[in-house]
Amino acid sequence: NVPIITVDGPSGAGKGTLSASLARTYGWHFLDSGAIYRVLAVAALHHGIELSDQAGLSPLASGLDVTFQSDAEKIRIVLEGEDVTDDIRNEVVGNAASKVAAIPLVREALLRRQRSFAESPGLVADGRDMGTVVFPNAMAKIYLTASPESRAERRYKELKAKGHDVKISRLLEDIKVRDARDAGRVTAPLRPAEDAYELDSTGLSIAQVFEKAKEFIDN
Ligand code: C5P
Repeated sequence: NVPIITVDGPSGAGKGTLSASLARTYGWHFLDSGAIYRVLAVAALHHGIELSDQAGLSPLASGLDVTFQSDAEKIRIVLEGEDVTDDIRNEVVGNAASKVAAIPLVREALLRRQRSFAESPGLVADGRDMGTVVFPNAMAKIYLTASPESRAERRYKELKAKGHDVKISRLLEDIKVRDARDAGRVTAPLRPAEDAYELDSTGLSIAQVFEKAKEFIDN
């Protein structure tokens, strides 16, 4: 029985940053479940499968040829032999991922793959349904939120830093659409697990969020 910490919540609340530092601090494995949905969306585009084509997407999901290779600094994500680490991080793919993620058969097809990340000495799992569906017996569940405005601003800074030309109003719009889709879907709608610690990162620094999360986990 491997100890698991789950970090769920809407996009842009800082889950990735928090999860990665928790994994580093405890020396545990890290599952970025959103990346799996993003990779699936890219695979669908490559294979010319429509994002609403259930019959096409579910075998693609169960047979998805993706590996997460950790080198010194970074986790490299390889799809069918091709490095897609950076390609999956744009808003188009994020949006496509949230469409394929709304399909129940797709979510089911990805369950076993996600659970296989639970290896000794422990796992930090980042996503939307880690604490509710994938790892309901996790030892500590965190639900990280933030106002849509502060999430849009965070995304804006990230994208700017990478040299992307984006409008903050557009990002806010995208975030609202994505939130509605993630919360409104039939299978695993976005919501906190009953036993989750709800942490609102609006106005908090990365260090403050980390401290609060760690205090919850260690107590
Ligand atoms: O977290 P990230 O933005 O990378 O996730 C991309 C999309 O994948 C989300 O908008 C969400 O629809 C979906 N997702 C999900 N369940 C997860 C992780 C991500 O439905 N556990």
